[in-house]
Amino acid sequence: MNASYGIDDTVAAISTPLGKGGVAVIRISGPEALAVAGRVFRPRSGRPLTDYPPRTAVWGDVVAPPHMPLCPAGGEVLDDGLCTVFRGPHSYTGEDTVELSCHGGVLVTGNVLTACLCAGARQALPGEFTRRAFLNGRLDLEKAEALGNLLDAGNQEQVRLSRAGMNGLLTGQAGELYGVLCGVLAGMEAGMDFPEEDLTELTPEEILTAIRQCLTRIRDTAATYRTGHAIAEGVPAVICGRPNVGKSAFYNRLVGREAAMVTDIAGTTRDVLTETVSLGRVTLRLCDTAGLRDCDGMDTVERMGVERARRAMAEAELIFALFDPTRPYEAEDAALVSQLTGPDFAGKAVVWVTTKADLTGSREVAFPDGIPAGSLTVRLSSRSGAGFDRLRDAVESAFIDGNLRLGEEAVVFSARQAAALADCAAALERAANALDSGLTYDICADDIREALAALGILCSRQAREDVLTEIFSRFCVGK
Ligand code: GDP
Repeated sequence: MNASYGIDDTVAAISTPLGKGGVAVIRISGPEALAVAGRVFRPRSGRPLTDYPPRTAVWGDVVAPPHMPLCPAGGEVLDDGLCTVFRGPHSYTGEDTVELSCHGGVLVTGNVLTACLCAGARQALPGEFTRRAFLNGRLDLEKAEALGNLLDAGNQEQVRLSRAGMNGLLTGQAGELYGVLCGVLAGMEAGMDFPEEDLTELTPEEILTAIRQCLTRIRDTAATYRTGHAIAEGVPAVICGRPNVGKSAFYNRLVGREAAMVTDIAGTTRDVLTETVSLGRVTLRLCDTAGLRDCDGMDTVERMGVERARRAMAEAELIFALFDPTRPYEAEDAALVSQLTGPDFAGKAVVWVTTKADLTGSREVAFPDGIPAGSLTVRLSSRSGAGFDRLRDAVESAFIDGNLRLGEEAVVFSARQAAALADCAAALERAANALDSGLTYDICADDIREALAALGILCSRQAREDVLTEIFSRFCVGK
């Protein structure tokens, strides 16, 4: 545990966004929360704060405690507002918590926070309230991650997915499978520890069937990651094609503003620009690349751009391959087709695009030779926007499982969850193979224990410090 995250401290922070607003909320949490609040808040009724039942909004004044830099004598009224006390464990953090609602001016809010800090609270670190909620068992990792996603959500699908995570659908399912596997293990251990007593309730066939059923469910759940990843984390995508096919115009149309320079001069896009954009239900982490041209005759900056483009293509999961049908196709177009259909790009989604449809009108345009049958192809115009609906459908068909009821079914939405499920499936496969080939129970039991450990990552309230740091570093101060 990081020393700066001392959980015995009482912490305070402004929980609403900084800026001018109707109200602002200052949250205080920890063992001394009520004491701190008692030093800075004076109910207008004249009764002490502790007289009121929890979760009751009490009207009163926020007053400067002694030694506050603003007024060292203390006692000055800083603002009036409402104070609500939540008694642990019935609070967001699971600890005693007080929320002060004051007027939403930047200076007023800052003064109220300073008063709390002078009255004995420490400034809360980013995500510290949620981290405390996690440590106090108020929410599990799935919920914490989902909450982070909800705060970052830029489209409705992300909101839906995050809400499902906050409802603990995945954790619930993992917990159920955990229970089933524990039962299997107990049955096996009974047989191993007391073989003469014939305690084994499960035959090897029954164990194998149970393992296979779990494996199917784990695999089905793991398969939702393609959709969850596409919505929550975003698909790294690149745009490629020879100079002047219309990459920058395409990029700008997707991004919705003039982000990349559009010119007639070949090689004007030297850098790799990256933007996060929503295309239908898919989140794209989109790169506009310089295209993969032969570096001969290029200056250093151009070479660096091409090198970066190569890297972006290697890391991409989705590639938009652009061709300009208003000009004859060239060797460079053919090279791109053969590159993208080659082994390095197997497993990546490629959408083959012809650009500038506004210039070709209703004329039938051909794609370059060599594009595999059944590929995703789209004709579009970045100038008019025609064809972008079809592009959205093509991308959704590659990444979104239309049968998945988002918000109602467990969906894997983070690499951490996906890795845990993959580990669990691998261990269960080993267990099934061990049983199949007649190995003794103890080997199989070890594999099941490993599977349980992997599942435990999904449904437990324990996690390694580095995982916690990564998850909570995404939160802002006050959350
Ligand atoms: P890049 O080099 O591949 O990035 O190509 P650009 O996006 O810079 O475009 C090259 C030229 O094609 C520019 O003159 C653009 O205005 C033009 N262009 C790009 N897309 C379209 C389109 O959809 N319709 C028309 N008519 N021109 C386009």
